[in-house]
Amino acid sequence: GTLPLAACGGSGAGGSSGGVGSGEKKNPEDILVGLAMPTKSSERWIEDGENLKKQLEDKGYKVDLQYAEDDIPTQVNQLDNMISQGAGILVVASIDGTALTTQLQTAADNKIPVIAYDRLIRNTPNVDYYTSFDNEKVGVQQGTSLLIGMGYLDADGKETGKTDPANIELFGGSPDDNNATFFFQGAMSVIQPFIDKGILTVKSGQTDFEKVAILRWDPATAQSRMENLITSTYSGGDKVQGVLSPYDGLSIGILGALKSAGYGTADQPYPIVTGQDAELASAESILAGEQYSTIFKDTRKLAEVTVAMVDAIAKGEEPEVNNTETYDNGEKVVPSYLLESVIITKDNLKAELVDTGYYTAEEVGV
Ligand code: BGC
Repeated sequence: GTLPLAACGGSGAGGSSGGVGSGEKKNPEDILVGLAMPTKSSERWIEDGENLKKQLEDKGYKVDLQYAEDDIPTQVNQLDNMISQGAGILVVASIDGTALTTQLQTAADNKIPVIAYDRLIRNTPNVDYYTSFDNEKVGVQQGTSLLIGMGYLDADGKETGKTDPANIELFGGSPDDNNATFFFQGAMSVIQPFIDKGILTVKSGQTDFEKVAILRWDPATAQSRMENLITSTYSGGDKVQGVLSPYDGLSIGILGALKSAGYGTADQPYPIVTGQDAELASAESILAGEQYSTIFKDTRKLAEVTVAMVDAIAKGEEPEVNNTETYDNGEKVVPSYLLESVIITKDNLKAELVDTGYYTAEEVGV
């Protein structure tokens, strides 16, 4: 018999493209949405993937959900496969935001719209939309919560007048993740004035993003960097009173290093340690009085706005965006929908994470 045309796949020369950007009217049932997520090693991405998949399937879409375990070639292959299987639209949370140029060119050639999910994809014109949180503000919240925890700011972010000197150390996220510099800049915008006034000292002297960045957001790397800082900088009896950490996984590693060095006792409490993502281990750590804060980014809402975007694009409508200024990817300003995040401490953890149904009371133990 003759081979049906569809079997040629989306990227085959002359084959009909699966891309919903071709203008051809299709039902959700006939549209495959490719979801490329970075890793399962952190809970948030598992939640993101599951929320997206479920909400898309509820609307009738076919879904191909893939995780790349933080390996760039794996993510590249997954995108190639999605395209050749006739994906109509791609939602991509990249590992390295600059490594997908070739795949996205193929997507564009096949009229497959691309949404950058949470992390901006850089150096390509072939990214159509971006859904994320206000990443600079996430950083501001991280810096603010560090200073609230250390007593320099009050709960409203106003200066308390405290001028006691203290030592801090800084950690940054993965240098290939566009978000990481936004978080760091946002945090430093509130911390730097206290350094300039001589109140806070980064005792190791390591203040450049390149020096403090943790490749692939790896908790073990953060733990060993903290161990090295303790040995190199704090062996003479000085203590560290605050640690800026941009992600809960890193925070847990940092706290592990501090614990091994004797912190976490009545005589020598842990420094104020920040975080991000409201992961379960950190929620528990916060309730136990170890990690001080995290930033809650409701992945259910991020999935919702992304699915609404997919649906609008598939119907040939203009998806809703709320920012057309901030996210220049080096080739163009990518129209974005940005959500708001919330600082979590012991005080509001139950209200924000349990009462909203993000976690059950049993899960966090409240
Ligand atoms: C996300 C953060 C997350 C980090 C590590 C960033 O791109 O925005 O929410 O903590 O990646 O997974």
